[in-house]
Amino acid sequence: MHDCVLPPLPSIEILGIRIHVVDQAATLDRIAGFIEEGQPHHVVTVNPEFVEAARTDAAFRQVLERADLCVADGVGLLMASRWQGRPLPERVTGTDSVVRIAERSAHAGWRLFFLGAAPGVAERAAGRLQARFPGMVVAGTHPGSPDPEEEDEIVQRVRNARPDILFVAWGAPRQDLWIARHLDRLGVPACMGVGGAFDFHAGIVRRAPLLVQRAGMEWLFRLGLQPQRWRRMLALPRFAVRAAAEAWQIRRAR
Ligand code: UDP
Repeated sequence: MHDCVLPPLPSIEILGIRIHVVDQAATLDRIAGFIEEGQPHHVVTVNPEFVEAARTDAAFRQVLERADLCVADGVGLLMASRWQGRPLPERVTGTDSVVRIAERSAHAGWRLFFLGAAPGVAERAAGRLQARFPGMVVAGTHPGSPDPEEEDEIVQRVRNARPDILFVAWGAPRQDLWIARHLDRLGVPACMGVGGAFDFHAGIVRRAPLLVQRAGMEWLFRLGLQPQRWRRMLALPRFAVRAAAEAWQIRRAR
C-alpha cells in the first residue's frame, strides 16, 4: 500500500487475485523487512473463500489488490498454482505465522499486539505463546470488534501500545477490511489478519494433526469440528471449477 524500498516479490495470479510466491521463511523475512522499514504494511492470508468473496465484494477485492503481502493460506490455492504450472512453495497459514513470528520476536525484540477473538482468548493465546517463547514481548491484547462505534477506541489503544506487529483475528473479510481502513492511523509496520489463529493457540479449538494438514485436508477436519462452517465451504467447489478452467486456458495459451 506504500512506496516500498524492499525488492518486489515474485507473484502469480489466481482468478485475478495476486498471490506472492513465498514460503514461511520468506514471509518472515519480508515481515522483518516491513518492521525495519517502519511504514505500515498489510499482510493477507488468502484462501479460496477470499477469492470467491472478492468476486462480489469490490471493497474486499481492492483490499487484496492493495495489500503489501498476500500469502497462500489455503491448500486450494496451492492446487490451482500447480494446475497453472506455476507452483506456490507451501501453505503460509495465519496460525503457523503467529507461531513463527512469536518465536522470532523473542530474539528480535518485536512487540506483538493480539486483537480479536472472544473475550479472554487473545490474552490466553498470547500467554501460552509467551510461555513457549520466553522473551516474547506482548504489547497488548484486546478482543474488541470491527463495529464502527469501537474503531476509534481500538485504534487509539493499539497506537498507545506501539506494537511492531498487529494480529487481527475477527475472521475474513471483516478483519482485513478493518486493517486496510485504519492502516495509516494505526502506524504499525506489519498488520496481519489471522482468522481463527487465537482459538488454536489458546487451546480452545484443536488444530488438525500434521498428517491431515500435509494431506491438504485441514479444511475438512475443521468442518468436522465446526459443522456450522458448511455454508462457507460452498465456495470451495466453485473455486475449484473456476481455477481449473483458468489453468486450462493458461496452459493452452503457452
Ligand atoms: N470473531 C470475532 N468477532 C467477530 C467474529 C469473529 O472476534 O465478530 C473471531 C472468532 O472468535 C474467531 C475468529 O474471529 O476467533 C474467526 O475465526 P474463523 O475460524 O472464522 O476464521 P478463519 O480461520 O476460518 O478465517
